[in-house]
Amino acid sequence: MSTTTTTTPAKTFQELGLSELTLQSILAMGYETPTAVQQESIPIALSGKDLVVQSRTGTGKTAAFGIPVVEKIDADVPKVQAMVLTPTRELTSQVCEELTKIGAGRGLRVLAIYGGDPIDKQINGIRDGAQIIVGTPGRVLDLLKRRELVLSSVQSLVLDEADKMLDMGFAQEMSEIMAFVPKDRQSSLFSATVPLGIKGIIHNFLNDPVSISLSDDFAYVREVRHAYIIAPTAQKERILYQLIELDQPSSSMIFCNTKNEVRSVSTFLSRQGLPVAMISSDLTQKKREQVMAQFRSGEILHLVATDVAARGIDVFDLSHVFIYSTPDSPEDYIHRAGRTGRSGRAGDVVSLVAATDLMNFNRLANRYELELTERNVPTEEEALQKRNERLIDRVLTEARDSASKGRTEMDGLATVILEHEDRNTIVSYLAHQRLVQRPKDVAADEPGGDAGDAEVVEIKADKTSDNGERIAEKKSPRRRRRPRRPEGRR
Ligand code: AMP
Repeated sequence: MSTTTTTTPAKTFQELGLSELTLQSILAMGYETPTAVQQESIPIALSGKDLVVQSRTGTGKTAAFGIPVVEKIDADVPKVQAMVLTPTRELTSQVCEELTKIGAGRGLRVLAIYGGDPIDKQINGIRDGAQIIVGTPGRVLDLLKRRELVLSSVQSLVLDEADKMLDMGFAQEMSEIMAFVPKDRQSSLFSATVPLGIKGIIHNFLNDPVSISLSDDFAYVREVRHAYIIAPTAQKERILYQLIELDQPSSSMIFCNTKNEVRSVSTFLSRQGLPVAMISSDLTQKKREQVMAQFRSGEILHLVATDVAARGIDVFDLSHVFIYSTPDSPEDYIHRAGRTGRSGRAGDVVSLVAATDLMNFNRLANRYELELTERNVPTEEEALQKRNERLIDRVLTEARDSASKGRTEMDGLATVILEHEDRNTIVSYLAHQRLVQRPKDVAADEPGGDAGDAEVVEIKADKTSDNGERIAEKKSPRRRRRPRRPEGRR
């Protein structure tokens, strides 16, 4: 395999020799300068060579393969000319969305195909002349076997997050799919790690690829501020809530080790009136998409997830990552922390470390030479003050917004009510109704989602479910007590 090293040449998108139409699309997306992985890989992909890129989500890798893929499509030919395989439906949707934007100038048709979505709709999309297919291996193979998807005109093949595709057991499907793609195609493989299985794929399916490895895999995680807080297990939910109130993240992800923790933390935060949702592998596709849309729109600010459920979710501009439970594997810490501080932006990672987690936490801190700051547990007063500021701000914004929309039909009623009752009592009642009473309790929609009624479960640390998520073992059907509210908030 030939190899390039990774200096970072100061190139612009113009210097990469792209067509005017693609350049316009890229600029319309707000991309001004190519990221390192784009600078390195776009010229090689455009030259027609096969490519292996070791790069993580968050580095701009989608456009790194998306731009050359788009550039090579003949816009006048209504046949599938490029295919991107990805491990998850979320990633498929995100890649499809990004490729659609990059290909907008050239008027290209990009289609996402994945399980869980009606197959007829996807078949119609193919028949309508899709030129780029982005899909998960299972559904792609299904459509190939039905002869609905024909790949004989494919010139570019991309394997995105190839290591995760292997982890998720797609090796067989990937090999079978390769048999449907012309041999003289150009192939690119993107992977965060290059374990033995990936080396096998490279050997079997790529042709003397150029290998690009970004000089420092963990560089962007080093840009992030890493802090920890010693938190007794029994108080973690309350401390997390106080931290959120204190820091007022513009958006955050909260990582837990188990699904039960996710459910419990999400319900607890939701009860405090925070706009929070959980993402779990139990959610239906529709529900996941709904939650992700709310998160992206800012309606939900905090997303609670396990590593497995968060896999493939592409969220950016997170101001905070909270590590509610220390991961067993140091790599998982890097994956979690890497959700913030992307594209060179600053971010905060705060770990809640219980006494039992200290050894694990020390191990990962040493392994990555993290510069850690210890934070104190926020006081109730600090958190309460911040919370009040947040609620006042929100109620005033909503009230002004309503007034600006001319919603004055209740004005008369307001006058009458205020004649009968003290202004404070009324305002406090309405604010409580509007802001504190579980305004966005998405968790409650889920099976067993209300932790207040959930069964008590005992976590077996080393039990793993089929999809890799740790599972909990039922102990007894006793009812669990409602989580304690912070002092002064009863
Ligand atoms: P990715 O690694 O493809 O998941 O991309 C990470 C994030 O960076 C996404 O939000 C992209 O929209 C964004 N992005 C990709 N390329 C650029 C660029 N050249 N300039 C600014 N943002 C970018």
